[in-house]
Amino acid sequence: MSEIDIPEDHPRYQSLLTRHRIEEGVENGITSKQGLIAEGRGEAFDYLLGERTIESADRAERTAAAYLLRAEHPVLSVNGNVAALVPREIIELATVVNAEIEINLFNRTPERMDAIEAHLHSHGAAAVKGRTADGRIPGLSHERAKVDADGIGSADVVLVPLEDGDRAEALAAMGKIELVIDLNPLSRSAQHATVPIIDNILRAVPNIAAHAKDLADASDAELTDIIDAFDSSEALTAAEDAIRTGRLS
Ligand code: ATP
Repeated sequence: MSEIDIPEDHPRYQSLLTRHRIEEGVENGITSKQGLIAEGRGEAFDYLLGERTIESADRAERTAAAYLLRAEHPVLSVNGNVAALVPREIIELATVVNAEIEINLFNRTPERMDAIEAHLHSHGAAAVKGRTADGRIPGLSHERAKVDADGIGSADVVLVPLEDGDRAEALAAMGKIELVIDLNPLSRSAQHATVPIIDNILRAVPNIAAHAKDLADASDAELTDIIDAFDSSEALTAAEDAIRTGRLS
C-alpha cells in the first residue's frame, strides 16, 4: 500500500499513515523492530489525547522554537522512528532554525547508520552527523553512549524526539537544554525534559518549524520572555488532565 492509497478523510488517517511509514522503515532497514513497539506505545497515547495538538503542547512547541532560535549550537537528534516518520520535516526544521542533524541510535549498527543517512540525503539533507562517534554521554554503556563530540557532545540545545528514557536522563544530566517530543507524559524522557512536547512527532515537528518562522524576527528578549513563561510541570499536568478528562487543555 502506498501513502496515496490511504484516504485523507479516513478518521484514522494519521495513525494509518504512521503505521505505514514505520512498516516501510523496518522493511528498508531504517527502523528497528523495537521501533515498532515504541510506535505502538505512542499511538495509544495519541488515541487518548484525541489525536490532536492540545493547547499546552502548542505552547511547548513555540517554546522549543524559541530555544532553538536562541541557541548557539542546536542539534536535532534523529533515530530510526524519526527518520521513517518525518524525514522531510526534520530537515526543514533544521534549515529554519539553523541546526545540525545527528543520527543517534539506541540499537546502533553500521547498516542502520548507512540506511538512515542515505534516507536523509534522499530527502535533501546536506551534512548529517553521528558517524564520527568520538564523544560519549557519561553514565551509559559503550554503544548507547556514542555521540559526535562536535555534534550532540557540544550542543547547548538538543531536540530529542522519541528517545529512550535512560539516554534522555543522561543527556539532561550533562546540562543540555533538552526538548523532548514524546506522546507519553509519564515517560522518563518527558519527565526529564526542559521542554516536554506531548504531541505526535508528525504534528510537532512541522508546528515547531511554523513557530520558528513566525519568530524569525523576534529579539533575544522576546524569545527569552517566551522561554521564561513556560512551565514544564504545568505542561505535563495539562497532558495528563487531557488524557483523564478528554479536555484539550
Ligand atoms: P521511558 O522514557 O519511560 O523509560 P522507554 O524508554 O521505554 O520509556 P521507548 O519505548 O524507548 O520508551 O521510547 C519511545 C517513546 O516514544 C514512548 O514513550 C512513546 O510514547 C513515544 N512515541 C512513539 N511514537 C511516537 C510518535 N509518533 N510521536 C511522539 N511520541 C512517540
